[in-house]
Amino acid sequence: MRKRIIAGNWKMYKSLEEAKSFANEVKDKVPFTERVEAVICPPALYLSELVQVTKGSALGIGAQTMHDAKEGAFTGEISPAMLVGIGAGYVVLGHSERRQYFNETDASVNKKVHAAFEYQLTPIVCVGESLEDRESGKTVDLVAGQVKKAFEGISPELAAKAVIAYEPIWAIGTGKTATAQDANEVCGAIRTTIGELYTENVADEIRIQYGGSVKPDNIEELLTMEHIDGALVGGASLEPASFLKLIEAGAHE
Ligand code: PGA
Repeated sequence: MRKRIIAGNWKMYKSLEEAKSFANEVKDKVPFTERVEAVICPPALYLSELVQVTKGSALGIGAQTMHDAKEGAFTGEISPAMLVGIGAGYVVLGHSERRQYFNETDASVNKKVHAAFEYQLTPIVCVGESLEDRESGKTVDLVAGQVKKAFEGISPELAAKAVIAYEPIWAIGTGKTATAQDANEVCGAIRTTIGELYTENVADEIRIQYGGSVKPDNIEELLTMEHIDGALVGGASLEPASFLKLIEAGAHE
């Protein structure tokens, strides 16, 4: 059985004090279980501090983006080597907000997936369609295309360790969730794409999250779906009680 993964994407929210207080409150309540893995992706400035605060707990810490180079003259950027150096374990790549506002492309996402694996970070690779794409029936083709490009040149052994987050852009921060059935259909198409690129085994192993207005009151239904192995959560990951409810739902059979 695939281990679920529920990741909180804090985006550009919280002061350092708020971030630490969240981590202190939550860390020992996250269960050590084979059923679910819990991760928080805070603003990069707080990564190091939260890695220290959560040490020895079951709460993992990840970055929201990174550069693909080990080091270099890239003002303002953070490298995979730096993330590993401070003890982060995950990195979100190709979030639609990065694609929309910071020129992230399928090609740059692909370079970053390579870099993440080179440094033993678990990449959470985001894909998803706009409302326009959905309404014109292009969802599956578009998402499959994003997956193919993100995984170009990645070996089957590594691909199996990746996490893919299917996040329809129109469902992010809007309160509109895809129905569990629609989300499952696209996550299933992503699994099929991975099966075509690699093998059935890789498709069976890779974990696929749904993201977009996931909340404590809709996560359970999403998690009953065959192809949904967890969630990437923005708004509902910001409060300890809400985040813990999501993890609790993930820990159920
Ligand atoms: P949301 O954000 O849960 O606030 O819709 C999800 C995301 O952007 O990852």
